[in-house]
Amino acid sequence: MRDVAIVGLGPAGRALASACTVRGLSVLAVDPRPGAAWTPTYGAWTEELAGLPPGVVRHRIEVPELWARERHRLPRAYAVLDNQALQAALPLDGVEVREGRLDDAGVAALTAEARVVVDARGARPDGRRSQDPAPAQTAYGVVVSREDAAPALAGAEGILMDWSTDWPETPDSPRGVPSFLYALPLDEDRVLLEETCLAAAPAMPVPELRERLRRRLQRRGVRAAAVEEPLERETVWIPMRGRDEAPPAGVLAVGTAGRGGHLVTGYSVAHSLRSARSLADRLAAADVPPAADPWRPGDLLRQAGLRALLRLDTPGTVALFEAFGTLPVRRQRAVMARDAGAGALSTAMWGMFAAMPTTGRTALIRATLGPARRLPSTRA
Ligand SMILES: Cc1cc2nc3c(=O)[nH]c(=O)nc-3n(C[C@H](O)[C@H](O)[C@H](O)COP(=O)(O)OP(=O)(O)OC[C@H]3O[C@@H](n4cnc5c(N)ncnc54)[C@H](O)[C@@H]3O)c2cc1C
Repeated sequence: MRDVAIVGLGPAGRALASACTVRGLSVLAVDPRPGAAWTPTYGAWTEELAGLPPGVVRHRIEVPELWARERHRLPRAYAVLDNQALQAALPLDGVEVREGRLDDAGVAALTAEARVVVDARGARPDGRRSQDPAPAQTAYGVVVSREDAAPALAGAEGILMDWSTDWPETPDSPRGVPSFLYALPLDEDRVLLEETCLAAAPAMPVPELRERLRRRLQRRGVRAAAVEEPLERETVWIPMRGRDEAPPAGVLAVGTAGRGGHLVTGYSVAHSLRSARSLADRLAAADVPPAADPWRPGDLLRQAGLRALLRLDTPGTVALFEAFGTLPVRRQRAVMARDAGAGALSTAMWGMFAAMPTTGRTALIRATLGPARRLPSTRA
């Protein structure tokens, strides 16, 4: 009998496996490709990376910007992670690693081999479903040289969200689901330019995002060849509610296999890295919680936020993020943090609402409380 069995060695599973062995627990880990390098470009606020070596930061953006109607400088450093260094910082020394892919029954069966079984298989352990109706964030990005990216960045060190409406065929009348540009330097030489749909149900198709990115960058004067034949490409697909199913009986779920993802931003990595340590502390003290990420009142507000995002049109979304940009940094943090409590989050959300013009407020109330409405995602 081991102390812990962990299925899935993505950021959530690996961080927990590593934290558990450091605390002297015996750990079995199962993954179809246990040693695989993580390929997504992970980003996080630097303050969320406490407890990790500085080398996990590949590039640091001191003052990222958010563009809505105005340009807002966010006085809060943001980091692009070095996945290789991050994996090295979460060593699996002493972990018994098994290669394999398990279904729910296989995960549940591990309760015969370990006192605690953890599901960290991510949002879709059975593979992607065709025509998945779940709300998802999708993105298409290209990596280009700094020189080529300069017209898109327009002097900014990095842009977390650029909601400028230069993506439609007719830029003065954007309709349908909005998308934004994520423009982030990866190092001294290269910049990721990524067209992102924050949330849509069903997901905005990647070809639509590729086309929006092409139009947007062309209008800004980025060289067409740099966009058509980039140094690298990235596509993103993040189900906003994670797996959105209860884990097998008797099993704890962490990361996106459970409720570790942020319902509004889709981010989970920084939360998983941090919460792995506190969960490992509890497991080492034989204090097994009923859930790794239990439901909290703040989740109700994040759910309302996701609901609004799925229904707001482009002008409503731009008004919402313009209001976000005017918030004091501690309130912005409450909106973005997976762990923010209901009090801090409701104050921040109220601050955004109060900062919006009347038309924006009306649209936000309708989007949050009104009936489900599907916006076309494939038309400008
Ligand atoms: C391109 C891209 C960019 C992203 N950027 C960010 C970002 O900047 N910040 C952020 O916080 N999030 C980001 N995300 C979201 C992020 O990837 C996920 O939230 C994160 O990887 C989830 O971690 P996880 O460990 O929960 O699951 P995963 O990373 O999905 O890991 C699941 C692990 O389980 C294994 N597994 C799957 N099925 C089985 C099975 N049946 N049996 C056994 N093992 C199995 C897989 O091999 C994998 O190792 C991004 C996603 C993408 C695709």
